[in-house]
Amino acid sequence: MAAEFTTLLSSKSSRTKRRRIHDNVQRAILEITSDSTQFTTPPDGAEAECEDATWDVADSEPDFPVNYSVNPDGSPTGATVFTCANIFEEQDVREAPISSESECSDTSDHDSDEFNDDGLADEISNWAKQCNILQSHVGALLSVLRKYHPRLPKDPRTLFETPREVSVRELTAGGGYYHFGIKQVLQNMRTRGLLELLPNEHSVMLQLSIDGLQLFKSSAYQFWPILGSVVNAVRQYVFEVGLYGGCQKPSDVSEYLSDLVSEMKQLETDGIVFGDVKYSVSVHSIVCDAPARSYVKCIKPHNSYHGCERCIEDGKWIAGRVTFLSTDKPLRTDDSFRNKADDDHHIGESPIACLNVGLVTQFPLDEMHLVYLGVMRRLIMCWLRGPIETKCRLPGQSVRTISDRLLSVQRYICCEFVRKPRSLSEIDRWKATEFRTFLLYLGPIVLKGILSKQHFRHFMLLHVAMYCLTSSRLCSSHLDYAQMLLSKFVQEAPELYGPEFVVYNVHSLIHICDDARLYGHLHAVNAFVYESHLKQVKKFVQHANNPLKQAVKRIIERQNGEVHAEKHAVRKDVICQKQHSSGPVCSSISCVKQFMKLICSTCTITSSVNNNCVLFSNGDIGFVRNIVQSDGDEVFLLCERFGSVGSFFNYPCKSEDLGHCLVATKLSPTLLAVKAAAIASKCLCLPHDRDSFVIIPLCHI
Ligand SMILES: [Zn+2]
Repeated sequence: MAAEFTTLLSSKSSRTKRRRIHDNVQRAILEITSDSTQFTTPPDGAEAECEDATWDVADSEPDFPVNYSVNPDGSPTGATVFTCANIFEEQDVREAPISSESECSDTSDHDSDEFNDDGLADEISNWAKQCNILQSHVGALLSVLRKYHPRLPKDPRTLFETPREVSVRELTAGGGYYHFGIKQVLQNMRTRGLLELLPNEHSVMLQLSIDGLQLFKSSAYQFWPILGSVVNAVRQYVFEVGLYGGCQKPSDVSEYLSDLVSEMKQLETDGIVFGDVKYSVSVHSIVCDAPARSYVKCIKPHNSYHGCERCIEDGKWIAGRVTFLSTDKPLRTDDSFRNKADDDHHIGESPIACLNVGLVTQFPLDEMHLVYLGVMRRLIMCWLRGPIETKCRLPGQSVRTISDRLLSVQRYICCEFVRKPRSLSEIDRWKATEFRTFLLYLGPIVLKGILSKQHFRHFMLLHVAMYCLTSSRLCSSHLDYAQMLLSKFVQEAPELYGPEFVVYNVHSLIHICDDARLYGHLHAVNAFVYESHLKQVKKFVQHANNPLKQAVKRIIERQNGEVHAEKHAVRKDVICQKQHSSGPVCSSISCVKQFMKLICSTCTITSSVNNNCVLFSNGDIGFVRNIVQSDGDEVFLLCERFGSVGSFFNYPCKSEDLGHCLVATKLSPTLLAVKAAAIASKCLCLPHDRDSFVIIPLCHI
């Protein structure tokens, strides 16, 4: 136990807890790791130790509790913040074995007034939840802390408000389902300050996500969580709506979704009341991968002849797979779906059909699975392992060159990317975010001169189209252009990669613009945030004994948890951190304070080499050398500006025309002061030739 606590708190976790809880935890560590006769509590000494061990909050303080974190793509600001969470993952523990506390309590001769106990229990509770600490370990910690704080509970279940029993609905084909309740969760969030609707909103627009989650490598046991978020909230948090657990996928989708459907019908009719105000409730969209969509919609699987969800293309069997070669077949509509106009597409009646939900338009084609894990991965696999006769397969030397180029740009990757690029030799372990980085940013640079001209130009069609559809700056103005490029990409694919290349994912590219058109932006309807949250749900299970009840109890504990209002307050436009005094400064600004870090609503800017490139609203691009605050409290960036920009590529358009992939030269050493409010976008900056850089404004944040 002592070693575990030591490991826990000496781990490289970078999360700062408040001084008070930190002091007390350190005190507990000393108690556990030392003989009791060696334990002393000199306040000054303890404080000095804590100063040394203070965790650095500035780098990545989470914005919200783990269970509610929205992580746009699994980025570091979100859910995967507490590295100590998996320390005990492999241990076989039982829930809440309460350690002995016979010696605690009132016999302590330490000065319990030295600390203010108010809120201490809440802080321990929050810390344990955020770090996913086992209840047995929290019990041991409480037994130590109670010597000095006898008002603390001795049972961690009291601390966490753990329900002693949860009522799981048994399904007829096996497995169980627990419904947390949309209304209850939303009202709970509202009470806790986690649900604030955008100004002038009179309705709650729910986005739901349904997907399966394998829990153990050695067992078929799986979860099927129903997750949700409010898309028209000031800040979006993912929450659990329901959770199924069983040894197979719930075989009857109507039975699985019955609680969700009945509650949504009620909410569609009655709305929801916050305070004295009644709001209508509607489903904005349901985000799933293709197998989950066919399951929920009760349609043929995506790899069957009538599997396209958006048009009535009749697939063809080529080289062992169903392909969809046409790009001009009539489109499905919500009405034609309800009327089952194409009977071959359906295998049953979806339980969602009784809700006010369009079963075509409100099931977006999730870009994460379709484009990044689907098309981009398929393209790379063709280059690495494709059939020789299609001439798309690259020689080994070319593959090594691409890998070398990927590795060489690692140090230039901004903090907004969760992962740094890896070699193609690790392609089987690449994650969705890595395929996205390759397609949206690095592909044109690392593939130039490697792929044949035809294959490179074909890849550039996909690159430019997806860059436009994921960029809030370009999406609405370039929708038709992206649609044209994607159609061209799909039409040219059979000649370059063989007709068997055009499977469901590739064909569906011609339909994905419809989602961008309807929802304004592909970011609004992708699965990155939900995939990230599923990892948290998985961590709630710490042993194989009744995983469903374990997870349900952990989720309820977190839904009842305290919220630090200051952490969840809507952020100011910019936040300056890490004050310094080492310059440089600019004579035109009356500088009061200097900072190393500037946190904006979507990005973080520093003066370090990978995080200092900025595009300003007047079109200027520069490197940030310092961040200063004037005597008028206004924040300025002191920048060196590039004197000239040009296009990195000219097909299918000049990259300069999109403000994308700009070759920047003639960096002026003169410092210019630019208001932080003038930041248009943070940029990825990669070295090009001597004294020139390729600048790519970030589009995925
Ligand atoms: Zn289609």
